[in-house]
Amino acid sequence: MERTLVFPGGRMKAVLIGYDDGLEQDERLLEILDRRRLKGTFFLSAGCFLPEGMHYAPGEIHRRLTLERAVALYADREHEIACHGLFHEDFSLLDGAQAAYQLIEDRARLERIFHRIIRGFAYPYGNTSAPTEAMLAASGFAYARTVQLTHETIPQTDDFFHFRVTTRHRLPEFLPLADAFLEAPDTRPAVFGIFGHTYELERDQNWLIMERFAERMAVPEKIWSCTYLDYVDYIRAFQALRTSCCGSLVENPSGTPVWFRQHGRVYTVGQGQTIQTEGNEAYQNGERCRV
Ligand SMILES: [Zn+2]
Repeated sequence: MERTLVFPGGRMKAVLIGYDDGLEQDERLLEILDRRRLKGTFFLSAGCFLPEGMHYAPGEIHRRLTLERAVALYADREHEIACHGLFHEDFSLLDGAQAAYQLIEDRARLERIFHRIIRGFAYPYGNTSAPTEAMLAASGFAYARTVQLTHETIPQTDDFFHFRVTTRHRLPEFLPLADAFLEAPDTRPAVFGIFGHTYELERDQNWLIMERFAERMAVPEKIWSCTYLDYVDYIRAFQALRTSCCGSLVENPSGTPVWFRQHGRVYTVGQGQTIQTEGNEAYQNGERCRV
């Protein structure tokens, strides 16, 4: 039986926006995202906030937020806060104990600061390591984002501790790829994921490119704007759907409604619900299960 992924609301496209390091320039990005009602994921290092009272030298472009400023900026918004390693260390160079500390202490501090459960992670410098992946899985993280670019929009549905994105805003292919994504027919699910640093927008003076991107992606009836965590949780809920032997009953044991396409029709199954589907020709003679 063929069942294909459909995003919440019956949409076939999703956009994921992730920015790293907790920088001053995130404020401007947040204004753009909020104006367009788009969601973002912000990967923070709890041990790297600029100490209160300290200031950067004139001309410094990579300017981290103070803790107070970060709280003011992210706390009451719907964007995702995720981990980026306590001191932004290269995890491929850390031994087990160091990696565990950098991971768990970052998560614990961010959870205390933002009063929410944090389940996302981005590898500092993009460097993955097998022990870190095992640790992430064992300690309740849902995904870990790499800096690997796919240059495509096929949804990632497994290997979430090597989460890959489509492109980044500073590459010339950025807007052409976004336009191709927007113009593609809704015949298959597609995901446009980006990551970057907001200081690059200031350095390269290309805030306009982000404005244009946000404007084009703000089509809520067609494009699901979600955090990385929203996306991974949704894919897991889709994959957790249960099916009766005859294929006509579909049960959703997860805590979120799930949409899917089956035999050419789009269905929704609410959290904890079982629905009946049609069109399985092998069971057309009244033999199908009934809800
Ligand atoms: Zn970083």
